[in-house]
Amino acid sequence: MLIREMTEEEKQKKKEVGAKVKEIKNKNLCPSCYNQEFGGLYTDYTDRIIYENEKVICFLEEYPRTPAHTIILAKEHYEDISEMPVEVGTAVMEAATHVTNKIKEVLGAEKVYMCTMCDDGRNHLHFQLIPRYEGNVIGSKLFVNERGIVVIDKEIIEKLRG
Ligand SMILES: [Zn+2]
Repeated sequence: MLIREMTEEEKQKKKEVGAKVKEIKNKNLCPSCYNQEFGGLYTDYTDRIIYENEKVICFLEEYPRTPAHTIILAKEHYEDISEMPVEVGTAVMEAATHVTNKIKEVLGAEKVYMCTMCDDGRNHLHFQLIPRYEGNVIGSKLFVNERGIVVIDKEIIEKLRG
């Protein structure tokens, strides 16, 4: 559900995208804004959107560490949390609370961890929600759990949207 192991081809594709991202950052451009304008960088996430408000959009991560690993992406560009207006912060927390409760309700997650890094050169403000399920390691090691690839399970995604 919502996640499977990556094939060697998919691992290779992920590396290639990573190299393109680095190229764009080296030109002092934000990869997310670049992708929004020109496309061709990240896979379209439209069918993975589970929540949206005026300031942020939430979608299932393409390379999740656990099922329903979710990205909360600011609609406007801010480099990181230091540039974030307080009303965007409020919208982030609204989204985080809503999505956390949905993930617990629909998928039975025990906890949902949240972090933001926006590291390594140019970046676009985003947060990660990483659900912890029964049997997962407890604590910060979950943040480096091995990545899989997202599976589009329309039924579950509909429930998460609900
Ligand atoms: Zn940006």
